[in-house]
Amino acid sequence: MTIWDGGAREQPAAVQALRRALAADEVSHAWLVVGPPSVGQQDLARALTMALNCDHADAPDEACGSCDRCTRIRRGTHELLEEQQPAGAAYVVDDVRDGWIRPASRTVTDGRRRVMRIVAADRMNEAAQNAFLKVLEEPPPSVVWLLEVEDESVLLDTVVSRCRRLTVVPWGIPALRERATQLGVPDARVDAVARAALGSPDRVATLAEEGVLEAREEHLGILDRLATEGPGRVVPTAKELARWAKSRVEPLKQRHAEELARYEDDLGVDARGQGWPPGLRKQLERRHQRLERGEQRRALGLVLDHLATYLRDLLVVGSGGPSDAVVNVDHLDELRRDAARLSPQMVVDGLAAVQRCRDALDRNGNPELQLERLLLALALPLYAHAASGR
Ligand SMILES: [Zn+2]
Repeated sequence: MTIWDGGAREQPAAVQALRRALAADEVSHAWLVVGPPSVGQQDLARALTMALNCDHADAPDEACGSCDRCTRIRRGTHELLEEQQPAGAAYVVDDVRDGWIRPASRTVTDGRRRVMRIVAADRMNEAAQNAFLKVLEEPPPSVVWLLEVEDESVLLDTVVSRCRRLTVVPWGIPALRERATQLGVPDARVDAVARAALGSPDRVATLAEEGVLEAREEHLGILDRLATEGPGRVVPTAKELARWAKSRVEPLKQRHAEELARYEDDLGVDARGQGWPPGLRKQLERRHQRLERGEQRRALGLVLDHLATYLRDLLVVGSGGPSDAVVNVDHLDELRRDAARLSPQMVVDGLAAVQRCRDALDRNGNPELQLERLLLALALPLYAHAASGR
């Protein structure tokens, strides 16, 4: 087992490029990590940070993986690795200045290099990119930037041209199957989970969480419920989905409440809430709210992904496409039934409605309202079709 195993193992090309750079002591100050999200980028970033900073390694492209520094980097709790996620639809200038450049410019002790991992860097707006460009033009020698992007075409040429490129790819089905088995997914569901994961081991982990596979069944059955139970189903279904997404945030909320309680203990805060240093409580609460919103958004994203894959599958099944192109292989019978209910045009319109919902949620739209709008867009053609068939 080396530091390059784990999630990075399925990205041999990226690992090879990084190890070569490390071995030659030519690690670029900025890398563009191009590919779908959550396919091992986190483990790549952690392995790189360990290799750059471990004092007990046998070779420059290795790390011991077990010293205090390596352990903390691997857990994501060492300041030599900063990880940034977008809080809303886009990264804005303030995110870049306060969230990236400030931590990046904190001094590191001799010889160490800090890695700044920016998730979804293609969500920088243009002003943010221009602010970031200044860093790329005069890069501090102790910082390595990993900019993860799905679509590099939205970045300014001036940003792209100053980065070295690394490609990451979706995981193959066998590796995803193996991950599902490791996570305790029952044998009968392993294949379906591996396919529904859409190339991402993180998604396997989400699907393996308690209650998520059951929720997936609900999500995949939405079209049928809308078709058979009539328009009255739209509002209650939107409510249920929004409630489910909210419920997924509870464990995180619990951890945040415990963190606040720990602070109060340490600071000796009294029963009336006196004793907090100015601003600290607000700052913590803001951070908690941001993380909780992100978690809820991820749960809503899962609902939308399930709907989108189901609709895409309808196109494949409806056109007699190969069944290995179907994501929801455990629902072939239902797909055949629903493909007869909807014309290809209706399915394409449905996919566009899912995308509109996604965009609205990225702009912090009200989840229940946006889901209602989406379900209505899916439901109306179903009724029109059923009515014309009668
Ligand atoms: Zn080490």
